Amino acid sequence: MDEWTCHVCGKTRPDDKISVYSQTLILENVKIQQNVRYCNDNPECIEGAKHVEWLRGPAHYEMTKEGESNGGD
Ligand SMILES: [Zn+2]
Repeated sequence: MDEWTCHVCGKTRPDDKISVYSQTLILENVKIQQNVRYCNDNPECIEGAKHVEWLRGPAHYEMTKEGESNGGD
């Protein structure tokens, strides 16, 4: 069974107890999707997921950069 770490309380939980709260942030004109994992059976984590915002640094989140396609020289 898959297990995930809750980004709010830090506990490792089975897959069916973890949900993902996706938030899109604009950082220096780059859209970044932040996926916060939280325990879906813990009201504190459900609420907390909405308020997690880079508190522990971007490295802790899965990020996808979108919309920046002007590379190449
Ligand atoms: Zn949790």
